[in-house]
Amino acid sequence: MPGPHGFDIDSVRQQFPILDVEINGHPLVYLDSAATSQKPQVVIDAISNYYARSNSNVHRGVHTLSQQATDIYEETREKTRALINASDSREIIYVRGTTEAINLVASTYGRQNVGEGDDVIVTAMEHHSNIVPWQILCEEKGANLKVVPMDENGDLIMEEFDRLLSDRTKIVATVHLSNALGTINPVKEMFKKARTVGAATLLDGAQSAPHMAIDVKDIDCDFLAFSGHKLYGPTGIGILYGKYDLLSQMPPYQGGGEMIASVTFEKTIYAELPAKFEAGTPHIAGTAGLGAAIDFVNEIGLDNVAAHERTLLDYSIERIGSINGVKLIGNPKHRSGVISFVVDGVHPHDVGTVLDSQGIAIRAGHHCAQPVMAHFGIPATVRASFGMYNTTNEIDRLYEGVQQVFEVFG
Ligand code: PLP
Repeated sequence: MPGPHGFDIDSVRQQFPILDVEINGHPLVYLDSAATSQKPQVVIDAISNYYARSNSNVHRGVHTLSQQATDIYEETREKTRALINASDSREIIYVRGTTEAINLVASTYGRQNVGEGDDVIVTAMEHHSNIVPWQILCEEKGANLKVVPMDENGDLIMEEFDRLLSDRTKIVATVHLSNALGTINPVKEMFKKARTVGAATLLDGAQSAPHMAIDVKDIDCDFLAFSGHKLYGPTGIGILYGKYDLLSQMPPYQGGGEMIASVTFEKTIYAELPAKFEAGTPHIAGTAGLGAAIDFVNEIGLDNVAAHERTLLDYSIERIGSINGVKLIGNPKHRSGVISFVVDGVHPHDVGTVLDSQGIAIRAGHHCAQPVMAHFGIPATVRASFGMYNTTNEIDRLYEGVQQVFEVFG
């Protein structure tokens, strides 16, 4: 049925073949899109068509197939530029995913610009991939990792951020949308403040990219990282956006083929952007799939997706939050995409197992955000996360599944 703004959930669901699969004798209820989203047929087709008809290496041949592969590869770069409203497609670097993008920035910009006694600021709700690369950098340089704390609702304490900022701050790296709590952080305001002390800014958009339009000019971040596989695209392909001037000044991340202008044993001249950061044969099929995913998302409209997911979120907070013996973790002011909860007396893994027996896929664990779990004094949560294909009926199935957990565990 068409919903608001012409969003038709039935026709959206029809495009995801996996939604017809039965799990343990039940229709699949997939509530783990924050870990990875399911793929529409157009993405699956783009990858298989690439291998069936255009497979070749990029930028290396005069032959037709190589041209076709290069066109696919570069067209997706341009689609990505448009998606995030970057000025120049040379600001779009292909990487494996968010994790690699952040490691790239820490190892290049970080090594170049962070010194002894300097500060790198992250928040208390980071995914491990936006903690560990900075820890490695700080350890190497004798710099300090500072953490913006959050309150009991899972909102950042902005006064503490103001207090941490100083002329020692070289990088502010923050998650846009928390994968553990769903909190949407006030990143535009944070980055504006970071600029006043001359710090570079990195936005972890792994979770926000599938749920909302990201405009790098409006947010004015220096770097943005996100993963194709959470945006209905394939695994193994992700994006680092960086402002042209910064990327130009940074040293390469890896050396090898494609990233050079010329090589002698005495000296190598590096290639211009973006090739300087794309050593070796890239994930060309991944870019074919990512390009199809971006077209798909644009066609549905991220605003329509956001409105639909808002309904799902509100319904799930009301429905799951009303169950006696269930406690929702976090109650952030602005949120999207995710609810986390614990069930009295039952370990989240056991909740996950009972739900799986009914075909319901949720995530149980620390969600690669152990400091968030420590903050709430729990080892793990059950997390239900939404994609454009979920329905309120599926949240009813989750509700019934949790009732079943109480029956199994008395
Ligand atoms: N940042 C956040 C907020 C995430 O949720 C994730 C993955 O769950 C990542 C970073 C890492 O993404 P990837 O594993 O695709 O590199």
